Amino acid sequence: MTVTAIVGANWGDEGKGKMTDALAAKSSYVVRYQGGSNAGHTIINSYGKFALHMLPSGVFYPEITNVIGPGTALDIDVLLRERDELLARGVPVPRIVISERAQVVLSFHRLFDELEEERLGAASFGSTKRGIAPFYADKYAKLGVQVAELYDEERLLQRLEQSLAAKNVLLEQLYNRKPINARDLLPELLEQAEKLRSFVCDTSKLLHDAYRNGESILLEGQLGALRDPDHGIYPYSTSSSTLAGFAPIGAGLPPYAITRIIAVVKAYSSCVGAGPFVSELNGAEADELRRLGGDAGEFGALTGRPRRMGWFDAVATRYGCMLQGATEVALTNLDVLGYLDEIPVCTGYELDGQIVMEHFPVTAKLDSAKPVLERLPGWKCDISHVRSFEQLPEAAQQYVNFVEAAVGVRVGSISVGPSREQLITR
Ligand code: GDP
Repeated sequence: MTVTAIVGANWGDEGKGKMTDALAAKSSYVVRYQGGSNAGHTIINSYGKFALHMLPSGVFYPEITNVIGPGTALDIDVLLRERDELLARGVPVPRIVISERAQVVLSFHRLFDELEEERLGAASFGSTKRGIAPFYADKYAKLGVQVAELYDEERLLQRLEQSLAAKNVLLEQLYNRKPINARDLLPELLEQAEKLRSFVCDTSKLLHDAYRNGESILLEGQLGALRDPDHGIYPYSTSSSTLAGFAPIGAGLPPYAITRIIAVVKAYSSCVGAGPFVSELNGAEADELRRLGGDAGEFGALTGRPRRMGWFDAVATRYGCMLQGATEVALTNLDVLGYLDEIPVCTGYELDGQIVMEHFPVTAKLDSAKPVLERLPGWKCDISHVRSFEQLPEAAQQYVNFVEAAVGVRVGSISVGPSREQLITR
């Protein structure tokens, strides 16, 4: 009978998908409340390995209702394709509901994302090119299209024409492209709308009722605190809030509903895309950690891009947990560090001749910040089969205790492998 948010304390890719999949068993609802198909949650269970981009991570349990909330960027193509893939691979028909107020990522959002990345060249922000930034720009400029509008052809056409008026000038004058005729977009959108029809409803009412009836709801965040547009490493951030504080808004629940906030923290650091990354590693050290990390090396679940690698960053993670309002931490990928004699951790930043520990500097300052590293003893063995804290080697227990003290939040669970059951609950 809880409303729980599972959110990232770092730059994303912390293993939220695995944690959500593991915790979903006890939930009635799993909700995506922000972001779109730029997510890449990797889940490994008895059906195989899946990288979910648009679907909530509860889709492997047929009794769970999976909600696409009003705060999300709905990519209809990706959602339908992912659902088909699940069915083709033997997963029971998942229960999916989509908010009638969610807005739709349109083909020209993806086009503008690509054109803009091309135009920016080396100065680009590392977009996943799923149209997310142009989508949210339109949403807040009141030029977006809500799911409900897909079922009113005249209104839809009007909305598309309004959205395209200024964009067509840009297409012709800035990008040297042909303008887009709103009418040409209709057939595909109307066809998609039909395929979607049976999933669409007032999900906010559904969730409110569930909340009032005391059912368990899991709110699944995408990316991490440091990618939040208000509090993260702007402009190397994403376009929707990645914080648990936004979850009730994006899902449609009362702000006081959440009682448990699990901040997922990775035992080392990884980051996809551009932006300052103080504890970043280079060369052979980075290659080795990348090769051994995650379930098959640290490569973006969406883009396949090699992730940038670094040691655990106490300054950034403490800040991330604070922003998330974490009531507990789930520490993931601890097993990966078993190859090291000693494990470096970043405990502070050297900045303008001073050591910064309690304050996470603004983006403009981060570029010149240097990591202050300490070394903790390694455990030099495989811990992926361990299922209790007490059975962990002494040095691994020490590492967990160090993280706990560094971020100031209890570590409630420890993940020691990518599979659902490779989890220690403390
Ligand atoms: P998300 O976006 O936060 O869900 O994270 P991703 O799925 O993109 O990345 C996490 C990666 O780590 C995936 O490859 C997971 O399969 C993997 N993973 C998750 N937890 C663990 C863990 O405890 N140990 C190991 N070795 N891999 C893990």
